[in-house]
Amino acid sequence: MRYLITGGAGFIGSHLCEQVLSLGDEVLVLDDLSTGRFDNIAHLESGGRMRFVLGSVNDAPLVTECARQCDAVMHLASAVGVRLIIEQPVRTIETIIGGTDVVLRCCARYRKPVLLTSSSEVYGKSEKVPFREEDDRVMGPTTHRRWSYACAKAMDEFLALAHHTEHRLPVVIVRLFNTVGPRQTGQYGMVIPRFVAQGLRGEPLTVYGDGKQTRCFTHVRDVVEALPALLADPAARGHIYNVGSQEEITIEALAHRVIELTGGRSRIEYVPYEKAYVQGFDDMRRRLPDLTKIHARIGYAPKRRLDDILRDVIADVRRREAAAT
Ligand code: UDP
Repeated sequence: MRYLITGGAGFIGSHLCEQVLSLGDEVLVLDDLSTGRFDNIAHLESGGRMRFVLGSVNDAPLVTECARQCDAVMHLASAVGVRLIIEQPVRTIETIIGGTDVVLRCCARYRKPVLLTSSSEVYGKSEKVPFREEDDRVMGPTTHRRWSYACAKAMDEFLALAHHTEHRLPVVIVRLFNTVGPRQTGQYGMVIPRFVAQGLRGEPLTVYGDGKQTRCFTHVRDVVEALPALLADPAARGHIYNVGSQEEITIEALAHRVIELTGGRSRIEYVPYEKAYVQGFDDMRRRLPDLTKIHARIGYAPKRRLDDILRDVIADVRRREAAAT
C-alpha cells in the first residue's frame, strides 16, 4: 500500500509517516514546508519507502500526479495554530478551502480513498459537552478571525460529504482535538510546547485569561494509530469521527504540572486575552470530545496520559535545545 500524505513534514504528518512505514507501507509526502520541516522526516529517508515532494496542495497538476501514484490519500496540509490563523487570515482561508478542494477533486476523479483531517474547532464555542459529531455548531461573528478557521474546516467537511454523496468518493473525516507530542513547535501558539520551553528556561508560564478554560490533550501517537485504521474501514466512509482524549484539565492546572515536571523554577503569569492575541478573539471554555463513535468503529481509546505527553515533550524540547547549542 502506498499513501500520499499531504502535510507529511508537519508535526502530526511526520508521526503519521512513521506509523504507516512501521506497518510496512510506503509513503509519498507532499509538503510546501511553510510550517512543516524536512528535519521532521529526514530520518525516514534511508529506508527507501518514503519519498518527499516539495510543493503545495493548491497546485492541482502536482496533486494529481502524486495521487495517481498512490493507493490512498491522507490530507493533513493546512494552516495551523491559533496565532498563525489570526496573523495570516487570507493564507488560512485559501490554503484550507483551496487545498482541500484540489485534493478531493483528484481523489474523486481517480476514486482514491481519502482521509480528511478536520478540527475540534468546528464545534466552536458550543457549551454542550462532550461534543458529539452530529451536534450543532456555535460560531462567533465573521469579524472575529478565529472563526475563519472553524468555518473553513467546516466547508472542507461539507465538500467532502458532498463528493461522497454525488461522486461516491470514499472519504472519512476526522476531527482532531488538541494533539500534542514531540516535534510540535510553540511558534504558532500551541500551549504545551510553549509552557515546557518556558518551564525549562525558568521563565514565567504565560496563562491566557483566568486559566480556568479546559482542554483534553491527546498524544500524537494515539492519533496516528487511529487514522490508517479508519481509512482502511469501508464502514467509516462518509462519516465524521472525533479523535481525542477525555482527560480534561484547566490550563492553570496544566501550568502547575509543567512547572513541577520542569524543575519548579517558574511561576505563572496571567496574560489578558487582549494582550495575548490581536483584538477579536474568543476562547473556548471547555473542549471535550465524545469518543463513542470512534470506539464503536475501530475500538479506539487513547493509551497515553497527560503525564506521558508532558514527559515526551520535555525530553524532546531538551533534545532540540541541546542540538541547537
Ligand atoms: N494558552 C495559554 N498560554 C499560551 C498559549 C495558549 O494559556 O502561551 C491557552 C489558550 O488560550 C487556550 C489553551 O491554552 O485556552 C490551548 O491553546 P492552544 O493554542 O494550544 O490550542 P487551542 O485549544 O486554543 O486550539
